Amino acid sequence: MNHQRALTLLTAYADGQLGPIRRMLLRRHYDRCPACLARLEALQTTREALRTKMAVHRAPPGLASRIASALPREPAPPPRQPSRLVWGFGASGLAGALAGVALTLMLVPSPDPLVSDVVADHVRSMMADHLTDVLTSDQHTVKPWLSARLPLSPVVKDLAPEGFPLVGGRLDYVQGHRAAALVYRRAKHTINLFAFAAKGPEEAAPSLHTRDGFNVITWRMDGLTYVAVSDVEADQLKDFVKLVRAN
Ligand SMILES: [Zn+2]
Repeated sequence: MNHQRALTLLTAYADGQLGPIRRMLLRRHYDRCPACLARLEALQTTREALRTKMAVHRAPPGLASRIASALPREPAPPPRQPSRLVWGFGASGLAGALAGVALTLMLVPSPDPLVSDVVADHVRSMMADHLTDVLTSDQHTVKPWLSARLPLSPVVKDLAPEGFPLVGGRLDYVQGHRAAALVYRRAKHTINLFAFAAKGPEEAAPSLHTRDGFNVITWRMDGLTYVAVSDVEADQLKDFVKLVRAN
């Protein structure tokens, strides 16, 4: 998001008129752009002053219900609280995972910065026309290409027979770590699979998060952090992760 565009959208942003992706991209710009941030804060201060200091004219009694009854009924929108679904594979490991058993589900609010970060990365990769540095469905090309440029050697598989063809790979940056980003497709959807070496346990079971309409699954494998991000259905992303994790 460039400065001019971010400035143009400032009022719409402050009014909450934009969709989640635009909001996120703008937030990232405003956080880094002092000029925009100053404008945004000035706008918010002015609004607050208007709201608290202007005389409030109350609507005549019954107006609200008259308007409401004149409008067609609409279902209430779902709550937009970010949530996190944690699902475990159980102690039986891969066999249990493939059998799809022992899925434990719990819903906890998750303002996980990693999740926000990779969702923004995913969106940016599709908008910035920088989805792949190496464009090939051949995992035997992608893997050495990445290994030559990164101090890690992530799992690279072509899952075309399973309906997740590999498109290519690129170098990326996730939370201060140089990361491999593998790009897969599912029908018209893009899946970004990030892998990077962060501190943590050797292995950790996958956990599913949702943010701004995107599904995110994180896990640890062979000492690396893996994160899959996409707008495909959660069940499809789980299937994808199972395939990536299968030996
Ligand atoms: Zn700006």
